[in-house]
This record gives sequence, structure tokens and C-alpha cells, in this order.
Amino acid sequence: MLLLIPGPVQTRPEVRAAMGDDIAPWDDDFRAEYAAMRPRIVRIAGGEEGKDVALPLPGCGHMVVEAAVRTFVPAGGKLLVVRNGNYADRLVRLATEAGRVVVPLEGPDSEPMSPEKLDAALKANPDVSHVAIIVSETGSGIINDPEVLGPVVRAHGRRLICDAVSAFGAWPFRLSEHPECDVVVFTSNKCLEGLPGIGFAVAPIERLEACAGNAGSWLLDLHDVYRHAVVNGWGSFRFTPAVQALRAFRIAMDLYDAEGGQPARLARYRRNADVLFDGLVALGFVPYVEKRHQGPIIVNVHQPKSPAWDLKRFIALMKSRGVLISNFWNTKAPTIRIAAIGAIEEKDIRFALTQIEATLTEMGVGLREAA
Ligand SMILES: *Cc1c(COP(=O)(O)O)cnc(C)c1O
Repeated sequence: MLLLIPGPVQTRPEVRAAMGDDIAPWDDDFRAEYAAMRPRIVRIAGGEEGKDVALPLPGCGHMVVEAAVRTFVPAGGKLLVVRNGNYADRLVRLATEAGRVVVPLEGPDSEPMSPEKLDAALKANPDVSHVAIIVSETGSGIINDPEVLGPVVRAHGRRLICDAVSAFGAWPFRLSEHPECDVVVFTSNKCLEGLPGIGFAVAPIERLEACAGNAGSWLLDLHDVYRHAVVNGWGSFRFTPAVQALRAFRIAMDLYDAEGGQPARLARYRRNADVLFDGLVALGFVPYVEKRHQGPIIVNVHQPKSPAWDLKRFIALMKSRGVLISNFWNTKAPTIRIAAIGAIEEKDIRFALTQIEATLTEMGVGLREAA
């Protein structure tokens, strides 16, 4: 099956094969293997070894997003959330339920947040200590670039939290060039093409050390993850990790380096996304995001208006043709969302486009007359 979903993504057979062994995470051999992974994870975020650290948290991506909010924003603290998409809605909810006061900065989910709007919002809210952004909004496919929004946060003397879960591995970012940034979070899956199971936070040691006691949760306290590593060694864990997923992630990082790292991965995904976008438009679909705002991770098009259209049937027929895409949408209007990420390339996208055209014909959905 060809997976064209934004996580868990299609992986390479070498990565999946690495899951095949029983491993004891506390065994000295694995400790050394894992300790050697940490600096590589810091480098993915553009951090500096010795100044920044990589902190793992087993579980889904939202767990490490919540851990980042809890650790860096004190209870009762004010957090401005750039709210231009479904994943930002989730961040608003988890921060609110964690007892942080959220100031949402609303924007349409088809456009990146403008630095001018963020600047005005920070002027109007002097008591906001942190700004949280979704770097790649996995609902719509737009990018809120920290290169654009970070300097605004810095100019106001506030702190930045980046949910880079569907961005890192592909989108360029250097933590060491963003002194306003407290923490970036991402996972072993998505653009890094490992298996799901582990979230990572990369943060400056200096910032972490100022955050003892903030979290209000032992499990989601990144400061405690850090202290544990300092006391017990960098190859150790507080609790049982998804150890096979970690082993697979090491292989995924080897493949990432062999491909040429972030620039090569961005180029491959950008090509996938361009071919997908242009191919869908050529079939008669209406894009959800204008081409100039279209990121390289995910492409959305409006669902056809044809009376013969039925998303569930379309997904089932596509699956019978060997292509799996999302059976739900995360945009304000009903869309079809197709991912350009994972261990896939242009020929896979072209295959998917052929199958989409054939499926529409089979369903009797005419795009040009109906859209
Ligand atoms: C995938 C994703 C997450 C985490 O999703 P989980 O299902 O919790 O792993 C968080 N933020 C963004 C932007 C994502 O794309």
C-alpha cells in the first residue's frame, strides 16, 4: 500500500526491519547506542552540542507538545497561540486544560500568520510571556516560518515555542540562530521517516534550568527528563521507552544523512508537493491554499461538488487501487488531503494521480462541470 498521509508516513523497509529485535533499553549496549543518537537529534533542530539538549518523551507528538507548554510556560502564565489551523486548535486546548491562559491570535487556515499581525498582538498583550506556533500546519499545508515570526517575538522580548512535528527533517531551522526560542518539538515519524512512538524536544540547557517545577506533571516535565539524564547518564530513561522505535529511528537518521539531510529531503518533498498540486489542478480540482502559500508537506483540494461525490467511497476505491489517503479533513471547508512526505518520490505521486483520475471516472464524478 502506498501511504499518502501526513503520519504515520511511508517508511523504508530497512527502518521497519530494525524493529525486529528484542532489546533491553537499560542494557549498556543500547544505552551507548541511544546516547550517541542524542547529539544527532540536536543537530536536526540546528542546535549546538553542549549548549542545547535533546529530550525524548515516549508517546504521540501531542504529548511532547503539551510537555513543552507545561515545562516552559509556568502555571497561570499567558501564552499567545498563532491560531490558523486545526493543529493550533489542539494546542489551544491542551494548553488551556493544562491551566495556561491562552491568547489566541486568529488567522485564516489558508495563509501563514503575518508578522505585522503578530507584532500588533504582542504590543496589545504585554503580559504574554510566550508565543506558540505550528511551523507546518498539518491541516491545511501552510507554513508559519520561524524565520519570519521569530524576529518579532525576539523584538518584544518574549519566548517562542515551535511545534515542528510535521516540519523538521524537511523545513530549515537553526535553533542556535533563534535566541528567542525556548523549545522545538518533533517526533521520530513524519519528515524524519522513522516509526511513530517517540517525541523529541530540543531546548537550550540555560532555558531548561530556569524551568524546574513549572510542569505540574511528573510525566510531562521536560526539566525532569533533563535532570534525570544529567544524574543518570545520557543513555538512560526515566521509564520504559518505545525502544524498537528508537532503534528504527537511528536507521532512519542514517538514511536521512545518506540522502543529504534537510536540503535533500526538502527538495524531494517540494517536488512531490508541486507535482501533486499541479496534477490535481490539471484534473480540475480547486486548491484550498494558493500556490504561493503552499508548503511542501501536505496538499489540500476542495471536495468536488458533484452529486456523485462521496469521500468514504473515494477513499475505499483508492485503497483498492493501492493508495491510502486520509478519510477525514482538518480544514475549515471540506477538503481531500494528500501528503507529499514519507519515503515516496515523484513516481509515486504520479501513480497516485493516475489512480485518482481513474477513481473519479469510476464514480462518475465530473470535476470540470461540477466544481
Ligand atoms: C502530527 C502532528 C502532531 C502530533 O500528532 P500525534 O498524533 O499526537 O503524534 C502535532 N503537531 C503537528 C503540527 C503535527 O503535524
